[in-house]
Amino acid sequence: MKELYFDSVVIGGGAAGMASALELDKAGLSTAILEREECLGGILGQCIHNGFGLIEFNEELSGPEFAEKVEERLAATGVRAFTGLTVMELQLASELKTLYCYSGQHGVLRINAKLVVLAMGCRERNRGNIRIPGDRPAGVYTAGLAQRLVNIEGYIPGKDVVIIGSGDIGLIMARRMSWVGCKVHAVVEILPYPSGLTRNIVQCLNDFDIPLYLSHLTTRIIGRKRVEGVEITPIESGAIMTEKAFVIPCDTVLLSVGLVPENELSKMAGVEINPMTNGPFADSMLMTNIPGVFACGNVLHVHDLVDYVVEEARRAGIYAASWLKGNSPKAEARVKTGANVRYTAPSRVDPDKNNKLYLRSLIVKNDAQLEVRINNRLVKSIKKTHIQPSEMLTVDLGPKELESVKDSPDPVVEIAIS
Ligand SMILES: Cc1cc2nc3c(=O)[nH]c(=O)nc-3n(C[C@H](O)[C@H](O)[C@H](O)COP(=O)(O)OP(=O)(O)OC[C@H]3O[C@@H](n4cnc5c(N)ncnc54)[C@H](O)[C@@H]3O)c2cc1C
Repeated sequence: MKELYFDSVVIGGGAAGMASALELDKAGLSTAILEREECLGGILGQCIHNGFGLIEFNEELSGPEFAEKVEERLAATGVRAFTGLTVMELQLASELKTLYCYSGQHGVLRINAKLVVLAMGCRERNRGNIRIPGDRPAGVYTAGLAQRLVNIEGYIPGKDVVIIGSGDIGLIMARRMSWVGCKVHAVVEILPYPSGLTRNIVQCLNDFDIPLYLSHLTTRIIGRKRVEGVEITPIESGAIMTEKAFVIPCDTVLLSVGLVPENELSKMAGVEINPMTNGPFADSMLMTNIPGVFACGNVLHVHDLVDYVVEEARRAGIYAASWLKGNSPKAEARVKTGANVRYTAPSRVDPDKNNKLYLRSLIVKNDAQLEVRINNRLVKSIKKTHIQPSEMLTVDLGPKELESVKDSPDPVVEIAIS
């Protein structure tokens, strides 16, 4: 079996993998990116709409344009990118990490590294995950698969479409399917508020007169061979109003019901998973419970904007290189999710540096207050004109705010929304 050695290996060549590899290379480490698809870029390759890169490149790019710009930076470095190569197994327990990989070109490879960055992205939840009753006809796709079929393979999966779930991919596909000549009859959402970004509701539904049914449950998919319709039922004050159920005829159903970090490899290797994100727990250096194994991008927690992915991944690369040089935090504090906060990533902060925390709210609220307390003492308060679960929030916590962490034997930083 062919065997290779690198200082650092990044699994996944999407935005996160490429951004972290750039930093590892900058720090002088021999670095490899391992990517199972035939080209780098990850999910960006199929997102041909614009809206990417406003922060990173200060211009509005499509997904492939964004990926190309990052790839250009990568091409000017010594990073070795393996494409068409799938990491099958990780052995992380020893000092030298071992990855068993397969590629059509190289066969089975054993790749060894002093540190590993997990950047495998996420995947879509499907019909099995949400258990919609009814028949099992053809014509039911996840929105991301439909996006790939239309934008990359050149197929239109149907003519009359209903989208279940109002996540961003579904919203973007509502517009895309309209542009390619389909009739999008409805987007159906079980929650009383949309799951996607407000800008996507406006640009992808309102601009195309596509109705959004909030607080509606999909109670049946109808059709023997091919989808013939979906039955949807309103929810009023928590009760499913069976007598008000109605059917929307369609031949295609797209599911946009959430994303889950790709965590099989991580779990197999003993990486501890946060049940709130389904990605690894990470400390203030974005390191998992296994020394020398870092995580960033959608494999850590599902992000809404690629700019945040790149920013976090860059920090993962910098921290990983610094860890290899023997640096680690002197005193860390645990971050606790308080009222109305679903999760924070990472879940530890270092009082000696500037920490950036990403978090998601559990509620929709105007004029909200985000508060940070250390051992119950308020250290930061941020006003937010509007918050909702679909829009990721960030909090910066620096040495000044975290000063009191050093005075406590078991400091707890609590973040809450009211
Ligand atoms: C439909 C859609 C629309 C979006 N629209 C916008 C937008 O308008 N603006 C914006 O800023 N952001 C948008 N985003 C968000 C942003 O694009 C993503 O969050 C970001 O690109 C994710 O990067 P990533 O590197 O974490 O994951 P990915 O891009 O998913 O990359 C992960 C890579 O890891 C590889 N991989 C996984 N497992 C293995 C393995 N075992 N071995 C080898 N390789 C492996 C995968 O093949 C993949 O290439 C959108 C996302 C989606 C899905």
